[in-house]
Amino acid sequence: MDNNQGMVIVLSGFSGAGKGTIMKHLLSEHPTDYFLSISATTRGKREGEEDGREYFFKTREEFEDMIRNHDLLEYASFNQNYYGTPKQYVQQLINEGKDVILEIEVQGALQIRKIFPQALLLFVTPPSGNILKERLEGRGTEEPEVVAQRLAIASRESLLMEQYDYIIVNDDLDKAVSYVHELIQSEHGRTMRNTQLIDRIQNELAVFAKGEVK
Ligand code: 5GP
Repeated sequence: MDNNQGMVIVLSGFSGAGKGTIMKHLLSEHPTDYFLSISATTRGKREGEEDGREYFFKTREEFEDMIRNHDLLEYASFNQNYYGTPKQYVQQLINEGKDVILEIEVQGALQIRKIFPQALLLFVTPPSGNILKERLEGRGTEEPEVVAQRLAIASRESLLMEQYDYIIVNDDLDKAVSYVHELIQSEHGRTMRNTQLIDRIQNELAVFAKGEVK
């Protein structure tokens, strides 16, 4: 296809909504279609995480240096930690015409919308608030206060759902993954993303039509 300008795609969603799992499956099913931006954060490394794979783990000082040096495309404070998108890698992918996915929270998503008005904003949610609560509790590893804190954050985040382009209800993982893929691929066909292709076809046809149209 010719309509292959790269896109910035933002995937947000409540903690416990399954956006990380959707991303993992999407990338493993379509390894050459999508590129994931790796964020910087000041939060501690969780078990199984590696520096440079899940996140670039930074001290507060290092992160604040990145802010001062304008190394971040956007950043936000979430749950008492900084999270931000390093600018350079995303810029490089955009220049190469690649589709780059940012898995970030709502404040960052709205900053991205300002920088890239054509970014595609997707929000992942379970089918109901009750199911979100059950999923957060169901992990079994969290203290009730932590679950309550996550639900309070989710409630605040839910007020910004309307700012997104599409809502992904994560009821069935495979369906959610296919839906995200289809949405992104359909989005490539939007007229506003194909102005160069349209111009070229109009110009080519105008040449053929010269002298023919009375
Ligand atoms: P976690 O600590 O569970 O990995 O992530 C906490 C939240 O921070 C999630 O909602 C995640 O999407 C978000 N997040 C991760 N990276 C970034 C980033 O670079 N910028 C912003 N604004 N949020 C991020």
